[in-house]
Amino acid sequence: MSIVYLNGKYVPAAEATISPLDRGFIFADGIYEVIPVYQGRLFRPDEHLQRLDHSLAGIRLTQPLGHSQWREILINLIEKNGGGDLSIYLQITRGAALRDHAFPANTAPTIFAMANPLKPLPEEILKQGIRAICLEDIRWKYCHIKSIALLPNILLRQQALDKGAMEAILIRDGRITEGAASNVFIVVEDRLITPPKGQFLLPGITRDVVLELAHNHGIAAQEADISPQDLQGADEIWLTSSTREIVPVTNLDGNPVQSGKPGPMWAHVTQLYQRYKQNMLAQTKTA
Ligand code: PMP
Repeated sequence: MSIVYLNGKYVPAAEATISPLDRGFIFADGIYEVIPVYQGRLFRPDEHLQRLDHSLAGIRLTQPLGHSQWREILINLIEKNGGGDLSIYLQITRGAALRDHAFPANTAPTIFAMANPLKPLPEEILKQGIRAICLEDIRWKYCHIKSIALLPNILLRQQALDKGAMEAILIRDGRITEGAASNVFIVVEDRLITPPKGQFLLPGITRDVVLELAHNHGIAAQEADISPQDLQGADEIWLTSSTREIVPVTNLDGNPVQSGKPGPMWAHVTQLYQRYKQNMLAQTKTA
């Protein structure tokens, strides 16, 4: 049974309980983070904790813990759950209070974290690439906040799954924003293009790693708007996220993307990503 962290205590998941009045349950009034762990080591923890700060500021909730306290919790969770490859999920809500939209006074936030096995996409799927479909981005206008209110994302992802696709690529006002749970890159004539950061997409940590790698290895990369036509005509389409890393899309809306196979730039950048990851992990202490 996995051991989770809840409000200062480490307990078996089945024994961790919260109030039904928790504003996370009642209003989805909270935010979250997902941090990958490889061989017992945290990958890009500073960047994830910084994004956590921004999400908290975005919903006007004071960060209850310092980064060093967070690191201690994360490292304890890795140890208590046997190390290896994990995905750490952490969530902070505005706490339990009588139901009222107004922020409650003097209410402690609820702080929760758990470690689950990290399940990357199987090699056979990566080799083939995945199917994606385009859908209208029906979400709110604060998508830069990693809010736990994920119902639109859930409905969009399920719509994709129902059509035999693995991800929905979202379009708002004629521009690609991101995937239901990923950022989008296209490759056009050996140049990477991804939509610029802003309130309509999550500033993905993997997205930043890919842009950094491109910069450090002389690959042209640009943050620019992508239209549905750009997407349809792209040489390659990728989706990035911490748990799935860089995933090639080889079929869009039922049509093959170019040859219908993962492209050479994807293979190149994936190799750079894996090498970078190994180097980073070698420099990080084990939990
Ligand atoms: N956008 C959305 C909506 C997501 O849910 C995610 C994954 N959590 C991402 C982008 C990718 O972000 P990251 O690379 O930090 O996992």
